[in-house]
Amino acid sequence: MSIAENLQKIETSLPPTVCLVAVSKTKPVEMIQTAYDAGQRVFGENKAQEMQSKAEKLPTDIEWHMIGHLQSNKVKYIAPFVHLIHSIDKLSLLKEINKRAAQNNRVIAILLQIHIAKEESKFGLDETELSELLESDNFTEFKNIQVVGLMGMATFTENTAQIQSEFNCLKGLFDVTKNKYFKTDSNFSILSMGMSGDYEIAIKEGSNMVRIGSSIFGERK
Ligand SMILES: *Cc1c(COP(=O)(O)O)cnc(C)c1O
Repeated sequence: MSIAENLQKIETSLPPTVCLVAVSKTKPVEMIQTAYDAGQRVFGENKAQEMQSKAEKLPTDIEWHMIGHLQSNKVKYIAPFVHLIHSIDKLSLLKEINKRAAQNNRVIAILLQIHIAKEESKFGLDETELSELLESDNFTEFKNIQVVGLMGMATFTENTAQIQSEFNCLKGLFDVTKNKYFKTDSNFSILSMGMSGDYEIAIKEGSNMVRIGSSIFGERK
């Protein structure tokens, strides 16, 4: 199937409230342009310089989402244009994003990445670290950052019950966090969970943003 057909198939299967982030990491600009021509406007990348170089070559109304682990020294490459950063798990990173956003006269929207998988390798905050971050004095001083929700990745496994339970935990944490820290803040509304292999489960568990790469663009090398 073509990129346009893949996109259409996925889009029609998604509830209207779910935002599709087309994950284009490692794929050439020509393929992104093809998806753009089919109507897709939201793209996800996991490397700052790759995103910057692609953004320069593609239409300016694309919303670029940073979904990968971001190092502080790379924030400067994407700060002028990035639409949403999904992968924040450290106060020091927030500090750098706040600084670069201010230099660009912007407020940058971010998601806090939560560690839900059983695997050690996945990045993210646990529940305690999340509260510590949201309650820290520094955090309230970041005027050029807006926290708009949470992101998480389930364990890479065939065990759908486990995936479901991990997503369910994250949805629970999202609701608790919303109630406790963002009750009157309507911007805190995004729950980014679900990839090619598990997005249907994620949506059932309350996701409203899915990050899909290989089911649109084909397998990556
Ligand atoms: C690569 C990646 C995706 C997309 O993965 P697919 O399995 O190709 O859909 C989603 N989220 C993150 C954080 C990724 O790094």
